[in-house]
Amino acid sequence: MATQRTFSILKPDATRRNLTGAINQKFEENGLRIVAQKRIHMTRDQAEGFYAVHKERPFFGELVEFMISEPVVIQVLEGEDAVKKNRDIMGATNPEEADAGTIRKEYALSIGENSVHGSDSDENAAIEIAYFFKDDEIVG
Ligand code: ADP
Ligand code: MG
Repeated sequence: MATQRTFSILKPDATRRNLTGAINQKFEENGLRIVAQKRIHMTRDQAEGFYAVHKERPFFGELVEFMISEPVVIQVLEGEDAVKKNRDIMGATNPEEADAGTIRKEYALSIGENSVHGSDSDENAAIEIAYFFKDDEIVG
């Protein structure tokens, strides 16, 4: 599998609890390289646009409120099979179903406040990276 890039967010429950270093360590020790990173406070427009695919879901409003509640760290991660590797490191959406050793098992508070976002396909990774980063902000 070739080198890939994926888009990652350290969500407000993680920044609030000062977990950005601990989570980044998980990425790095599993072979993912952080090739872009910014701490931002997402606007409502940004959050609604980013999660537009979920806008008919019952949790959409709650998700947007959470994502704009406090700062987040947005990232581009690079490595072999990065999209799948990152999903494996993150663990299942619901922390109760996440495997031992995954970020969500160790740190997530609930299915909503689950510490990290990661792209679910190569195609969505490209879309999500371009939503938040300019090409010259990514240094591989
Ligand atoms: P993932 O982040 O694992 O790709 P989804 O794309 O299905 O999961 O959902 C996006 C985000 O929406 C989740 O990470 C979580 O923060 C929130 N979410 C998903 N399902 C629920 C739910 N049943 N209740 C509350 N929030 C949810
Ligand atoms: Mg998803």
